[in-house]
Amino acid sequence: MNKGLLIVVSGPSGCGKGTILSQILKNENIYYSVSATTRAPREGEVNGINYHFMDKQEFMELIETGGMLEYAFYCDNYYGTPRKQVEEMLESGKDVILEIEVKGAMKIKETCPEAVFIFILPPSLNELRRRLEKRRTESEEKIEKRLAEAVNEIKAAKYYDYIMVNEDLTKAIDELNAIIVAEKLTQKRSLNKIDEVLNNA
Ligand code: 5GP
Repeated sequence: MNKGLLIVVSGPSGCGKGTILSQILKNENIYYSVSATTRAPREGEVNGINYHFMDKQEFMELIETGGMLEYAFYCDNYYGTPRKQVEEMLESGKDVILEIEVKGAMKIKETCPEAVFIFILPPSLNELRRRLEKRRTESEEKIEKRLAEAVNEIKAAKYYDYIMVNEDLTKAIDELNAIIVAEKLTQKRSLNKIDEVLNNA
């Protein structure tokens, strides 16, 4: 059996990654890696589903024991990908999505170059501000911080394999699905199919 595909999705806070991914994840063969974070839960967020919420000491212990595939410090908090489940899922043939910011994604690029890297752009910075303000999950000060960070993140989009613009939700979902389907059909991930056909004569 082929190993699963590791799919890394980044985009500035408010670009709509979460909404797009919630549709993609209806596919049962795709596993969403639940990150660890030191950020406080937002209203409605559930521990173990949205994030593994933990304090800084717990987070640092995970790093020290090699339990993190990557981690980064973003807008005053730590965020990281717990290694174990991701590796187990990939081994069992499931595709895994990491929804992570740019610094963490670049770490994955070094350690797992076979992963596919997708960046989601907002239609404009004004629209990004509008979406963040409408969401009402951050204070005005935190929104400004996230917007400042967004400019740096967008500049790093050029290091990704695919760059999408989330202007129309349905189109964005279709595009992300298309990328995943096409990536799974690439020659390097499909060589075993040739032997299967030849041996099944
Ligand atoms: P939020 O606080 O809005 O949930 O997330 C802030 C940023 O952290 C987002 O860009 C999100 O993609 C990123 N993020 C979430 N989990 C991880 C992770 O495990 N590692 C890294 N590097 N970034 C993450």
